[in-house]
Amino acid sequence: MSQVVYLTVEPETVDRTKKQSWIHPHLIESVDPVKGRQFRACHHIPKGACLLIDLPYAVIPVVDEPEVNDHLICNNPACNRRAPREKGRYSCLNACMQDVVWCSSTCRDADKSRHGFECTWLKKYAESIRSKRGEYDFGMLWLIVRLLAFRHVELQKNAPTGSKSLPKHSWEAIDSLCGSSGTWSHDQVKVWTTLAKKYLKNSPALPHGLNTDRMLHLICQEEANSFGLYPRETGHYPPPNPPIDRGEQFAAAVYPTAAIANHSCVPNIIHKPDDEGRMVFTASRDIFPGQECCISYFDLTKHIELDSRRAHLRKSFRFLCRCDRCVSEEPTEEASEWSAMPLMDDSI
Ligand SMILES: [Zn+2]
Ligand SMILES: [Zn+2]
Ligand SMILES: [Zn+2]
Repeated sequence: MSQVVYLTVEPETVDRTKKQSWIHPHLIESVDPVKGRQFRACHHIPKGACLLIDLPYAVIPVVDEPEVNDHLICNNPACNRRAPREKGRYSCLNACMQDVVWCSSTCRDADKSRHGFECTWLKKYAESIRSKRGEYDFGMLWLIVRLLAFRHVELQKNAPTGSKSLPKHSWEAIDSLCGSSGTWSHDQVKVWTTLAKKYLKNSPALPHGLNTDRMLHLICQEEANSFGLYPRETGHYPPPNPPIDRGEQFAAAVYPTAAIANHSCVPNIIHKPDDEGRMVFTASRDIFPGQECCISYFDLTKHIELDSRRAHLRKSFRFLCRCDRCVSEEPTEEASEWSAMPLMDDSI
């Protein structure tokens, strides 16, 4: 069985013991008039180079049957490691929800202020949202509450926004994420407006001081920018033979800097979370100055055909993919004219 293994070359300037994001000096953010924010290479980047290590601004576990699932992660944002049952888990003293566990009492204590912000909300709404609206809507709302919890901690600390040479890791970076209600269907926006009014309004259970319009915008931002976390890499192209998928999702997160990357069905970046929930980008081939650096928004071992990829991206990410691979696979004009013609009805 052949297996593609990329060795991530970590530059010496990365110090993983420091809890901060890191970006390769040759990877720069620029703005395209059509696509908006994007990453480009400003110098040659060799295949295998580590391009980005981004700390999540907020992360939630996404597992079935959390009480028996060993993929559940520690809820302390400074840890995010797997919390398998045999090592012992520490639950919330207020018993808010089974998905909320820590890997040690130290992690639980360290996470007091952040979890304190969400605990009342979880206890009040988690069960009813799950039963009435399902796991998807619950996960979306919980991730938003966690974004607000980090903001709360940031406001309390009056935290500095970090050094100029490091990627921004603050509410300011979340504020600048793309996400407009105009991208989504009217019906979808209506549903989200109802959810924002019902579950995210400023209240003693969720004291954020922001209005409902801002909550709706935050839902749009979260939906446009959040990542699913999978145990294996996303973005090998061509996929290894036989194909290896990225495995089962175990968490979802918002990364302020990784979110800038656009999609391509022939990406030059592979992405995968490390064992502390940081998103790591690796160059899957040599990248030359001026080239855009893209990830794949979906598992490339799925949605193989052009129509399937475009339909998936349109439905889940609201855009028509015009990457090099999609354009090269488009039928020629002559062929598309034929396929646009009505089928002959031979029953007459
Ligand atoms: Zn922990
Ligand atoms: Zn709790
Ligand atoms: Zn494409």
